[in-house]
Amino acid sequence: MELNLTNLSGANVEPSKPLKVLILGSGPAGLSAALYSARAEMEPLVITGMEMGGQAALTHTIENYPGFPDGVGGSQLGELFQKQAERFGARLEFDTATAVDLSSRPFKVTTYNQEYLAESLIITTGASPNKLKIPGEEKLTGRGVSWCATCDGWFFREKNVVVIGGGDSALEEGIFLTRYAKTVTVIHRRDTLRAGAILQSRAFANPKMRFVWNTVITDILGDEAVEAVRLMNVLTGEVTEQPTDGIFIFIGHTPNTQLFKGQLELDDLGYIKTNMLMETNIPGVYAAGEAADPHFRQVITSAGMGAAAAMQAVKFLEAQGVE
Ligand code: NAP
Repeated sequence: MELNLTNLSGANVEPSKPLKVLILGSGPAGLSAALYSARAEMEPLVITGMEMGGQAALTHTIENYPGFPDGVGGSQLGELFQKQAERFGARLEFDTATAVDLSSRPFKVTTYNQEYLAESLIITTGASPNKLKIPGEEKLTGRGVSWCATCDGWFFREKNVVVIGGGDSALEEGIFLTRYAKTVTVIHRRDTLRAGAILQSRAFANPKMRFVWNTVITDILGDEAVEAVRLMNVLTGEVTEQPTDGIFIFIGHTPNTQLFKGQLELDDLGYIKTNMLMETNIPGVYAAGEAADPHFRQVITSAGMGAAAAMQAVKFLEAQGVE
């Protein structure tokens, strides 16, 4: 996503003065929370995190966000969210939270650059793509192993790539990769896809796409760059090697909530527990988007959760008499 750096360099926040609303994360949830709290004149500050715009900004085209009948680029949508929030006075700081102290209000948030105090906190730290945790994955990351077709697809023009996973991400990104690659082979551990029907139809109709069923990947092979993958058929136990130039991994996500462990209630998978009002177990602390949503994980649901969290935060601050 294009950064508007003029607005990101130094938000001029007085460290000792508590912010009314501090938002962690700049995906659809964070920027929607910023828009709503800014319009309520709460002067929110957004700590963007390393991935400005969140995962949505890495998506080539978003076709299911209402209002864009022809689809919209993920980074373009993020820029529009940012612009709209800033129009009402939201400020963005390109920084990352490294520690939080939620034991009393104002809450304390430490980032790489500064320490902030905040009367209310909206956590929208999102989720990160899962890793296979197999030999070769770490060594060859950036050398043929990728989690982002939009970012890296261009490098694989006229090459053969494999995609791991059977969900919406695997098919959507796999279809996108066919713009560049000679072939895209989807390797899935079962014989039915988890992805939705529309994506399945499109993928099956795409002449560049192939499918390998009931198969897991056990090794990524190559010295300087990916050369092949070792595969195992889970039904027969047969092990084979398939030459490939690249591997794109789409096997789900893990919420970015480690920072809050021990302070906020998390579920077994690490998602922040909230009620319908986006309230966590600590009054004044809200969570929205994929950090708190193991179910929907859509731009529209994350944006809605962010807006709801901000509305609740505003009510909370008003009840506390925060000016
Ligand atoms: P997902 O739906 O959780 O799918 C993950 C896929 O990876 C599953 O097919 C799973 O296999 C497979 N998998 C998991 N762990 C694996 C492992 N260790 N080795 C091999 N395969 C493994 O994740 P997602 O596709 O990223 O989608 C996440 C959410 O975002 C979903 O709610 C999805 O609907 C949404 N999304 C929507 C769109 C869209 O609407 N256009 C686009 C992208 C994502 P099993 O099927 O066997 O479990």
